[in-house]
Amino acid sequence: MNVRSSQSLRAYVVLEVSPHGCQWRVVCCPFCGRPHWHGAGDDPTQARRFLGGRVSHCNPSCGGEYELVEAA
Ligand SMILES: [Zn+2]
Repeated sequence: MNVRSSQSLRAYVVLEVSPHGCQWRVVCCPFCGRPHWHGAGDDPTQARRFLGGRVSHCNPSCGGEYELVEAA
């Protein structure tokens, strides 16, 4: 089952742009409290296409799915 329920956790992210591409940085993971990075392609203007449901990059014992939401 791969249902994205309304109770999915939100992970607030900020965009980081480097010469190697863009990444969304999870400021504070809702599972482990640590930062994580998720790929966001090469074009900063298209990075929002990479928001949405992802699997966290935590230690497997505490991770899970969350939704990447751009921080205000
Ligand atoms: Zn985590």
